[in-house]
Formats: sequence, C-alpha cells, structure tokens
Amino acid sequence: MTHMTPPKLLVIAESERDGLKLVTLAAVGCARQVAEATGGRFDILVIGAPVQAAVDALQGYGAANIFVAEAKELAVPTADNYAHVIVDVARMHGATMLTAAASTFSKDILPRVAALLDAGMLSDVTAVVPVGDEYTFDRVMYAGNVIAAVTLDGPVKVFTVRASAFPAAEKSGGQSPVVPIAVDRASLPNRIETHDRVATPSGRPDATEARVVVSGGRAIKNAADFERLVGGLADVLGAAVGSSRALVDAGITPNTLQIGQTGKAVAPELYIGLGISGAIQHLAGMKDSKVIVAINQDSEAPIFEIADYGLVGDVYAVVPELIGKLKLS
Ligand SMILES: Cc1cc2nc3c(=O)[nH]c(=O)nc-3n(C[C@H](O)[C@H](O)[C@H](O)COP(=O)(O)OP(=O)(O)OC[C@H]3O[C@@H](n4cnc5c(N)ncnc54)[C@H](O)[C@@H]3O)c2cc1C
Repeated sequence: MTHMTPPKLLVIAESERDGLKLVTLAAVGCARQVAEATGGRFDILVIGAPVQAAVDALQGYGAANIFVAEAKELAVPTADNYAHVIVDVARMHGATMLTAAASTFSKDILPRVAALLDAGMLSDVTAVVPVGDEYTFDRVMYAGNVIAAVTLDGPVKVFTVRASAFPAAEKSGGQSPVVPIAVDRASLPNRIETHDRVATPSGRPDATEARVVVSGGRAIKNAADFERLVGGLADVLGAAVGSSRALVDAGITPNTLQIGQTGKAVAPELYIGLGISGAIQHLAGMKDSKVIVAINQDSEAPIFEIADYGLVGDVYAVVPELIGKLKLS
C-alpha cells in the first residue's frame, strides 16, 4: 500500500564506543514498518566518535542511507551538540519523521530536536498507524493503564518508541550506502561541558537489552544485600539487575537501575522480582515481560496477580538457596 505523501524517516541511532546500543533496532523496526506500509523510506543517523562498530552493526536492515556524523567533539552525547547535528541532517535531507528508541539518551536529546524544528514530540510510542495522509500514534499513559491514540500536527513529527512494543528489526541483506556528514565544528553550541563519565563497573548487561532481569525491592535492606541477593542471582543467570523506586529513594541502588513509570521500561523473556510489592508504577515498566516470577513473603502482594510463577517466602532465606541450587545445576 502506498501513502499519498510517503514519509522520510530518520532513525537516530544510539551507540557507545564499542558498538550499537541494541534498543536502536526497535526504532529501526518501527521505521521499517512505517516505510513498508506507506511506500516511504528510512535513513539512519549515527553520531559520535568512534562510530565504525555501530555503522557496521546497522548494515543489512534496509536503510536507504546510513548518515555518519563523526567528530571528536561528539564523542560524548551532549544534548546541545547532538540536537544541533540531528537538526542539520533532518533539514538537509527533508526528514518528516524523526525517531529513536525511548531511553535516557533520547529523552535528553529528542525534545530539543523537536523544539529546534518547531515540531510536535511524542515519547513512548507503541504503534504508528497511517490513516489517510496522516498518522495516529499509540502511547501509554497513566502508568500503562490508558493507551492514548494521538495525532501530531505539522509537517515534521518527532517521537521515541518503546522498545518492548516493536520487534527488533531483522537483517534482510543488502548494504546501505554510508554517507559521511561534514560536521561544522565552529557552529556546535558546546554549552554543556562533560567532566566525567562513569561506566557501570559490574559488567552486567543493561536491563533494557537483557533476556533476563532480576529486580529487587524494599525487602532488600542495604547495598551489600542487594549485591549478594539480586546481583548474585543475576550473575548465575547471566542477567541484568534492576530495582524498584523504593530502593533508589533509599539510596541503596542508583537511579539508572530503576524500572517503572519513571524509570526504564523492560520486556525481557524472564523477569524475577524479589521483595517487590507490584505497585502500578513499577508494573508500568515490566508487565510486558514474557515470564514473570515473583518472590514475596506476603501472599496478598499485588505482584502475584500478574506473576506466571510465584513463591511466598523470605528473600533472605529463599534466594541464597536458589543461587546455590542454580550453581550446582
Ligand atoms: C509518580 C510516581 C512515579 C513512580 N515511579 C516508580 C517507578 O518508576 N518504579 C517503581 O518501582 N516505583 C515507582 N513509584 C513508587 C511506587 O508507587 C511504589 O512505592 C514502589 O514501586 C514500591 O517499591 P517496592 O515494591 O520495592 O516496595 P513496597 O511497596 O514497600 O513493597 C515491598 C514488598 O516486599 C515484601 N517483603 C518485605 N520483606 C520481605 C522479605 N524479607 N522477603 C520477601 N518479601 C518481602 C513486602 O511484602 C512487600 O510486598 C512511583 C510513584 C509515584 C507516585
């Protein structure tokens, strides 16, 4: 089916020094869906330094072009410089839809892009439906209790997509031309100065990308117990760790680990919640997980209503036993 005015989509890739952040593939999957449904096309923009590993990882997904803006000034993703480059590329190539996976990176950068383009912006989109010559976007509201179908006025639309709602794009063969973008260093705003970046020392995967996530709640009394119980179970399963906001507020876990309405949204194959009650704000970030396991000493805890497997017990007794058994198996 072709659309009256096919869109020109631009996917903003998220990359790290050592390669592509896999959530990008959900945004690519969404762009490809829209392009296929409308007869449009999509390009991908990779920004940073170095970028080669990310560019290589994006080959084979059917992008019309992979634009590459590489400059040492862009090694750290500061919102002012990135937004400036994205807007330049969008204008140069007449992009009408700009998208990225919903993440801390895109939350920081895309609203600025939308403001600079005088465009409407939506976050956490779960479906894009072409309707005539326009589009309806589904997005979750009120901690996932309402799915709003909304439209964006104006010729340019900016949105982030919820990775759990779009299947990661699959390779379909074919190389996309790599098009270098000349970065005018003198015109970069450079208003934000980065003093330090601290990498997660654990070596565990990111919760948004892991197949298994082990998450801890208020039942965990301190950081050492979190590391021993939540980290210990995660490590035997090769899983990522997450936490409820109760532990973040208590200073036991960093807010980068928070899962939920005001944290990360995850949809792993297996989610294990340890001592988490199942408040709606927490469920908003994990209820799309394929299999949910809950361990809680209160048999009435709401998390058991959505759990596929539940164990009523004290995490301090049950989890060390579970870790021991998994190590033996
Ligand atoms: C605007 C807003 C946004 C929010 N955003 C988020 C968000 O993004 N993410 C989020 O998580 N929360 C969020 N919250 C907070 C949310 O409402 C809950 O307060 C929070 O999720 C509770 O965390 P919890 O389940 O760890 O703690 P609790 O609700 O206190 O539950 C602790 C659970 O542990 C069990 N337990 C206690 N000891 C043990 C033990 N030894 N063994 C086994 N089980 C035990 C208890 O039975 C209980 O069920 C938000 C709230 C608001 C108002």
